[in-house]
Amino acid sequence: MLFPKQVLKPYFQFTSDLNGERIAFICPSGYQYVVWQWAIWAAGGVAVPLCTAHPEHELLYSVTDSEASLILAHPKYEAVMGNVAKTVKIDLQVFGDSDMDVQEKAIPELFDMEITRPALIIFTSGTTGKPKGVVSSHEAITVQTEGLVQAWRWKSSDRILHVLPLHHVHGIINALQCPLFAGATVEILEKFDNNAVWQRWISGQEGDSINVFMAVPTIYSKLIKHYTTGLSESDQVAATAACAKFRLMVSGSASLPTPVRAKWETISHQVLLERYGTSEFGMALSQPYEINERVEGTVGLPLPKVQVRLMAESIEGSGKFDMDVTDEREVPGAIQVKGPNVFMGYYNRPEATTKEFTEDGWYKSGDIGIRHGAKGYFSIMGRSSVDIIKTGGYKVSALEIEREMLSADLGIQDVAVVGVEDEEWGQKVAAVVVMNTDKELDLQTMRATLKPKIAFYKVPTLLKTMDELPKNAMGKVTKKALVPLFTSQA
Ligand code: ATP
Repeated sequence: MLFPKQVLKPYFQFTSDLNGERIAFICPSGYQYVVWQWAIWAAGGVAVPLCTAHPEHELLYSVTDSEASLILAHPKYEAVMGNVAKTVKIDLQVFGDSDMDVQEKAIPELFDMEITRPALIIFTSGTTGKPKGVVSSHEAITVQTEGLVQAWRWKSSDRILHVLPLHHVHGIINALQCPLFAGATVEILEKFDNNAVWQRWISGQEGDSINVFMAVPTIYSKLIKHYTTGLSESDQVAATAACAKFRLMVSGSASLPTPVRAKWETISHQVLLERYGTSEFGMALSQPYEINERVEGTVGLPLPKVQVRLMAESIEGSGKFDMDVTDEREVPGAIQVKGPNVFMGYYNRPEATTKEFTEDGWYKSGDIGIRHGAKGYFSIMGRSSVDIIKTGGYKVSALEIEREMLSADLGIQDVAVVGVEDEEWGQKVAAVVVMNTDKELDLQTMRATLKPKIAFYKVPTLLKTMDELPKNAMGKVTKKALVPLFTSQA
C-alpha cells in the first residue's frame, strides 16, 4: 500500500520503525483521523482507532486489550484519555485541529510498505460477546479496498458524504479507504445529523455535488423520517432531485427492512445496494452494481478474490458443518469465507482465533445464509447464535420474521425478534416492537395478522413494546439485552 509520507512528517516524531507497536488514537471524525491512521502506518505501527462514543471503561478496555504503547488524542478527549493513559501507564500525546491544517500541501511523496504486516485493529462491537481486537494486514485492507473499488466503480470524480463512525470496517474501509484509493473526494461529517445530510445534498452545485452515500439501515430510517417531518415542501422537491442524481447509495452492517428500502426508493429514486460483511473479512458479498440486477432481500454474490461457501450439518444436531451446500438452492448453511481479505487473527487470542477457522482454513462467520434462484444470490438469515431460533423442532430466522412484521400493516416502526428459552418449545419466538406514535399492538392482533403470512411456528408468541430498541454505535440491536424482558413470563 502507498502512503503520503510528506503529509505526515511534520506531526510526528516517529523516526524509528514502530515495528508493529499498537498506537491507539481518538479524534472527532474528520481529516485528523486520516492523517493519524496513515502516520501510524508510515511509522510501521498498527493503528487502533478508538470509538468516540465509548465511555472511559470501554476505552480503557480497547487500549489494554490491544496493548497499545501510545495514545494520540484530540484535546476534546484529553481528560478521559489522560485517565486511561495513567491507568495503563503509557504516554498520551495531544494534537489539536490547528496542528492539522495540511489539506493544501503539495502532492506528497509516496513510498511502499510491506503488505504482510498488521495494519489495523478494530474491535468487534460485542453484539455476541466481549469485543475482540480484529487484526487485519495491509494486504487484507488492500484486497478489501480494491475489490470494492472495482465492484462499486469508484472514480476520482466521485464525492462521498461520510457519516459513519471511524472505528468500524464500514466507516474505515468502505466509505474512506475506497474513495481515497480511487482519488475521490471525502467530506466527513463529524457526527451524523439528519438535517445536515439533507441540506448538504440539497446545496450541491455543479462540481461539488455529493454523488455517493453509505449508511446502516437505521440511518436511512432517520433520513426518511426527517424528510417527511423536518423538510419544507420545496426542500423535499430539491432533496429528491439531488438524490436522483447520485451514482450509488449503499446499505449494510444489518439487514435492510423492506419498508425502509421501499420508502427510500420513493423519496430518493434510488435502489439501495445491499452488501454483507464483517470486521473479520471486510465485505464478502455485494448486490451487483447494475440497478436492475439487484434483488430485494439478497446481498448478491462474492466480491473479487473472496470465496464464500455455505456449510450444513450432514447429521442434524451433530454440530459438524461438514456438508457443502453452496451449489444448492434454498438450503440454509453456515457462511464461511476464505481469501486474502480475511483478518490475521484476534489480537492476543490464539484460541479464539483457532476456534473461528475450519481445519481447511475457512473463517466461520457465525451467520447463516441461503441462496436463491438461477443467479444464486445469497441472503442472510442472521447470526446462528442469536437470530436462528429453534422452536418446537423448527429452525426459524429472526430476520425473516422481523421483515414480515415490518411489512404487515401493524403500525410497527421497529422490531427485534429473539428466542426465549422454554421447557416445552426449546425456545419461544418473542418480539419486541417500537410502535408508530399513534398505534398500540396486542399479542392477539399481531398473531392474527401474521398467521396468513408466515408458518404458524414462526408467529411470535410473546410480545413487548418499548419506546426505542437498544442499539450499538453501528445501529445494530443488542438483542441479548432484550431476552431478560421475557424471562419472567416465559
Ligand atoms: P460481534 O462480532 O462482537 O458480535 P458485530 O456484530 O459488530 O460484533 P461486525 O463485524 O461489526 O460484528 O458485524 C458483522 C455482522 O453484521 C455480520 O456477521 C452479520 O450478522 C451482520 N451483517 C452485516 N451486513 C449485513 C446485511 N447486509 N444483512 C444482514 N446482516 C448483516
